[in-house]
Amino acid sequence: MRENYDNGKKYSPELALEQLKADLISELPPDAQVSKVVFEGPFVVLYSLNPSVLMESGEIVKGLAKSLRKRIVIRFDVSVRRAKDEAQARVLEIVPENAEITNMIFDDELGEVIIEAKKPGAVIGRSGTTLREIAREISWQPRVVRSPPIQSQVINSIRKTLTNESDKRKNALINIGKRIHRPSVIEDEYVRLTGLGGFSEVGRSSMLLETAETKILVDCGMNVASRDPENMFPYFNSSEFDIDEIDAVLITHAHLDHSGMLPFLFKWGYRGPVYTNDATLSLMTLLQKDYIEVSAREDKLVPYNQRDIRRMVLHTIPRRYWEVTDLSNDIRCTMTPAGHILGSSIMHLHIGEGRYNLAIANDFKARKSRLLDRANTRFPRLEAIILESTYGGPRDAMPRRDDAELQLIKIINRTTKRGGKVLIPALAVGRAQELLVVLADYYQKKQLGRVPVYLDNLIAEATAIHSCHPEYLSQRLQDQIFNEGSNPFLCEIFKKIENDRRDIVSGEPAVIMATSGMLTGGNSVEYFKDLASDPKNAVVFVSYQAEGTLGRRIASGVKEIRSIEDGKMKMLRVNLDIHQIDGFSGHSDRGEIMNFFRELSPKPERIILIHGQRNKSQSLAQALTKRYHAKVDLPKNLETIRLN
Ligand SMILES: [Zn+2]
Repeated sequence: MRENYDNGKKYSPELALEQLKADLISELPPDAQVSKVVFEGPFVVLYSLNPSVLMESGEIVKGLAKSLRKRIVIRFDVSVRRAKDEAQARVLEIVPENAEITNMIFDDELGEVIIEAKKPGAVIGRSGTTLREIAREISWQPRVVRSPPIQSQVINSIRKTLTNESDKRKNALINIGKRIHRPSVIEDEYVRLTGLGGFSEVGRSSMLLETAETKILVDCGMNVASRDPENMFPYFNSSEFDIDEIDAVLITHAHLDHSGMLPFLFKWGYRGPVYTNDATLSLMTLLQKDYIEVSAREDKLVPYNQRDIRRMVLHTIPRRYWEVTDLSNDIRCTMTPAGHILGSSIMHLHIGEGRYNLAIANDFKARKSRLLDRANTRFPRLEAIILESTYGGPRDAMPRRDDAELQLIKIINRTTKRGGKVLIPALAVGRAQELLVVLADYYQKKQLGRVPVYLDNLIAEATAIHSCHPEYLSQRLQDQIFNEGSNPFLCEIFKKIENDRRDIVSGEPAVIMATSGMLTGGNSVEYFKDLASDPKNAVVFVSYQAEGTLGRRIASGVKEIRSIEDGKMKMLRVNLDIHQIDGFSGHSDRGEIMNFFRELSPKPERIILIHGQRNKSQSLAQALTKRYHAKVDLPKNLETIRLN
């Protein structure tokens, strides 16, 4: 850790805290009875014996936050909080029965009680009156969430970790807070960007952003399609990267090529904060756990363990879209919707009092999908933008969405009518849920027959997580779920696979959705082997099939594959129908990227293209330069560019 000096005296975070505390208390009304002021992660937390004074008139705190330029959170002091069983009983008395409370979870660290109810509006009351009454009566801050229609094991296990290890989390937040709120000591204003992975390639995304004061890692992925460790992990051995100097890690979204190596940082000793939102935290925890389980089963390299994942959970500070977060004394971050998968974010960084503004759109969808609204294009200021260019090639035009949907429905109807089964290898997160929403809709419209749609465990769990975070879904879906009472994820044809694979394979016509999406491992490969030789069946690829994967070989027409059964090599004939439907992508195609840039406001002077094959990025760069006269960079991994 670097040391800070102030006028030649050694800087002490404790002294700064004392000074800030004194400033704060002098400006607060005495009846707020502030007992403690603590830096917890990016927040200044005021513990109060009588916080209602501050909570009910938000103006005092707003004014303070503005003058101190810090984010202030108010909590009930531990000494005034009612005992949990008493508090719980009181909440049940106050809240009308028709709210249908299903669960209450007390968070000691935040002094919050999360009230899960089927009708959250009834807990809130008219203009929040019931909530305020609860706060006054029990001295815990109530937060209301809708009861999830499907329980998620991962979310429950994250909650358990946070409850069981709340002391560890608190210490971690205090240590992080000391570092974030240190005063600036260096005047220089450079901003540098180094590619550690996912520059001029797709996979293992990770980049280092550096100012004189701060080093931030954005994404920490792995290339799951690669078997060669040299191409699988980011360049953490580069001299630019020193784990002790990283102030914060940002995760744009949960896919393993953006989050898969994050627990490894904790194994390696990182103890700083991770910023992302709660949907991403749930989804990446699910994918990482699955990744290490599958790797262990298949005798592959397992780079970290469950304990490292738990450490990651304890150090993650979830932030919602549009909330501003101080990452350090010179960088602020705001996450905005990216339209790619649940929780995916375009990160907006506001550097050095806003003198340099950078947006990072690492995987985004510029057009709305069934699942999500389109990516945000409006920012307060923008000097540069980092853009993915996966489908930036001149011929990368995706078919129309409704055509893709009809094609899928036709294949399913045709195949199941002739007694066959349809295998859809899918990424567990994103594509699978998008397809489920499509299937539910066509089933409701009676354009899809009543065929069971089997979901493997991972897809079923990812779907449960989607149903627990409806606030990240598209407005249309939220209306459908909340106002029209029809939740597509609960459609009666969807069935989690509980029975033996062989029962499904030898059973009635069905759709089977299984991971992985490129037949690189997992259930989809097993189902593929079972279904491949029967010409009645079909396989539908709905995502990009990377070079070297079994999916790519099948999609390109290979008619025979080797398979190992009971230790013996067998040749397997591929007789089933093979389809590739491209229209469901969570990425933007060439036209969408150009449209995104057209709508981007304000227009940045500089564009940095990453996350794409070099020839595609080059072609996109030419188009962007021609149309917008922008300066476009195409850095490679390990290249550093100065942005300002
Ligand atoms: Zn992605």
